[in-house]
Amino acid sequence: MNREQIISDIVSLYENCPYPAPAVHRRGKPHTTVDFSKIGESDKTARDEYYMRCALDLAAASLEFGEVPVGAVMVRGGKIVAADFNGRESEKNALYHAEVAVIGKTCRAMGGWRLPGCELYVTLEPCIMCTGAIFQARVPRLIFGAADPKAGFFGGIANACDMPLNHKINVKSGVLAEEASRLLEEFFTKKR
Ligand SMILES: [Zn+2]
Repeated sequence: MNREQIISDIVSLYENCPYPAPAVHRRGKPHTTVDFSKIGESDKTARDEYYMRCALDLAAASLEFGEVPVGAVMVRGGKIVAADFNGRESEKNALYHAEVAVIGKTCRAMGGWRLPGCELYVTLEPCIMCTGAIFQARVPRLIFGAADPKAGFFGGIANACDMPLNHKINVKSGVLAEEASRLLEEFFTKKR
């Protein structure tokens, strides 16, 4: 099966999120356009776990391609806009991290380089390259699973949120982190 077919099969399982979506405003600064003011904390948590599960399924699928298992999903309001998994080995491309791939797809889907109202779910803390891409695309909200103490740029080796960058990102870490870590551990144990 090809990569895009696998991705769309997984995404189709998550198209009907049972939890309420945040409001996405047309106007306003991009970082203020994911509005959870009418959503309860437990629904917000459940929704974050729901989409993270989709990202985890994508990460698991990447194992079949011999990839370090990392998956990412871009959500806007109640809709999955794009999804992908690490493709560095199979696509023979250093830039093919799940997040960068998903940002590229979302830009094409939305017809612009700015991604207001979007939420990026990724199973592993983003690296320096992906962090750069997240800031470049002005993604307003990032949700990640496992921390990456060796390469993560949202607290691992540095924290981009502490840097004097113009764009502000709302970050939530540790969502289903154990499952993301388990996938990564399995991969590296088999490799050794
Ligand atoms: Zn990366």
